[in-house]
Amino acid sequence: MKAKSDITTSDTAGATLEEPRPPIAGEKFETRPVRVGNISVGDGGFVVLAGPCSIESEAQFGTIAEHVRQEGAAILRGGVYKLRTKPSSFQGLGTEAFDHVRKIKAATGMPIVSEITDPRQVEALHDLIDVFQVGTRNMYNYSLLKELGMIRKPVLLKRGMSALVDEWINAAGYILGGGNPDVILCERGIRTFETKMRNTLDLAAVAWIKRNSELPVIVDPSHGTGRPELIGPMTLAAAAAGADGVLIEVHPEPGRALSDGEQAVDFGEFATLMARLRPVLTALGRQLTVPA
Ligand code: PEP
Ligand code: MN
Repeated sequence: MKAKSDITTSDTAGATLEEPRPPIAGEKFETRPVRVGNISVGDGGFVVLAGPCSIESEAQFGTIAEHVRQEGAAILRGGVYKLRTKPSSFQGLGTEAFDHVRKIKAATGMPIVSEITDPRQVEALHDLIDVFQVGTRNMYNYSLLKELGMIRKPVLLKRGMSALVDEWINAAGYILGGGNPDVILCERGIRTFETKMRNTLDLAAVAWIKRNSELPVIVDPSHGTGRPELIGPMTLAAAAAGADGVLIEVHPEPGRALSDGEQAVDFGEFATLMARLRPVLTALGRQLTVPA
């Protein structure tokens, strides 16, 4: 475990940070890949990050990890701390999940992404996980973003549910400006007047980012649609739009999930999605990124 002084500093208050360079008219940026453990995100390959919305038990996390790994996911997701709309909803196992993360990471060898909900969690999560996820509700939490600029570990920055693309890129600037170059953007849908879907998945923003930013960008069709039957089609569309990967919520029994069960795919649906993805990637001249 690193000493706190090696990981974070809060004395950036008042300091200005350098902004990401805007594109020159007509320029198309090349994506600068981000390394996550033994996986490269943004090198042209398509990375599937999958797992439960929340870690519920060691057995649940282990079973899901094994299944998604076998089907071709390269990075495992699992929520430890959850930010829920209702205070009475399950808020994640918190520190109780730390041991589950250690064990399942050792058993599968997969890098793990999990959400940080508070700057005070940086130290504890630093040596536990491989990617810090910043959720939609925290995209504007500049104190948290500045703390994550002080560390040398990748950050998955979700788009705020009402954020303009420029606001999202500027939020990334708070991390990059602190000296942490490893930011992966994640489009997870925005609020519009449409109510059939939980959010409106903005795939045009993904294609825009591929041209106008050097940051890798992935898509979360689970939160982006809120509907399991749309996750497969939107995964294929994300690949065609140029996304560097997808983040998918998987649960063996979605009806019993402690969070976001209504938008999780089950094992069979995940296997079908992966089987449909492979030939689409081939047609696009791309490949699924598999662990080395
Ligand atoms: C999640 O990934 O489970 C999550 C809470 O995502 P978001 O911040 O996009 O709602
Ligand atoms: Mn979720």
